[in-house]
Amino acid sequence: MLMDLHNHTVFSYDGSNTPEEIIENAIRSGFDAVGICDHQFTIKTNLKEYIAYIKRCKEKYRKDIKVFVGLEVSVCPMPDDFSPNDIDGLDYILLERLDKPGASSLDECIKLRRKLNCPVGFAHCDVFGMSEKYNLDMLELMRRENIFWELNTSGNYNYYYDFLTNEDKRQAVKQSGVGVSVGSDTHAVFEYRKKQIIKANELVRKMLLPMPFAMYR
Ligand SMILES: [Zn+2]
Repeated sequence: MLMDLHNHTVFSYDGSNTPEEIIENAIRSGFDAVGICDHQFTIKTNLKEYIAYIKRCKEKYRKDIKVFVGLEVSVCPMPDDFSPNDIDGLDYILLERLDKPGASSLDECIKLRRKLNCPVGFAHCDVFGMSEKYNLDMLELMRRENIFWELNTSGNYNYYYDFLTNEDKRQAVKQSGVGVSVGSDTHAVFEYRKKQIIKANELVRKMLLPMPFAMYR
């Protein structure tokens, strides 16, 4: 199965396509699952409206593709206009910018994760770099806290190339048992990096890495 769980639409300040355009592009590209994952800091108090809209898309395209309703929440800084109580209808949340200077502490991020009653992943996060920074085993922490890890194929993050080329790191991820999602972080359909995301999906499948969450319920 082919998944792309990280896509931005006009619900994000930096997205150029409608959710429908993103979904139809995923269908044309042969994907089985597509996640719309817009920025919480752009959506702010319109979260209910956003969730309702993507849920309607889920219905509309049900026969062609599995659509997931996601949200990307930055922890740099921790948002003060986001309530873990308002996430009804979300299929998953990606926490981002954990490894940026000025990000909230890992403790605070874990506290937030525990309040979120849905699958949670760390987006474009260099887990090996973070293990060094915090002097702990990030993968073990993620397994314990039931947090999946995103392989982000946008080309903007070095850890992705590292994962493709470093067998030790691949084995560490496999042995950790942490679920792995694949995301293109697409902001515009015209620049869709189809080849890269299909390659990442094939790798994840070949390595038999666990799914990020129960994708077929
Ligand atoms: Zn993103």
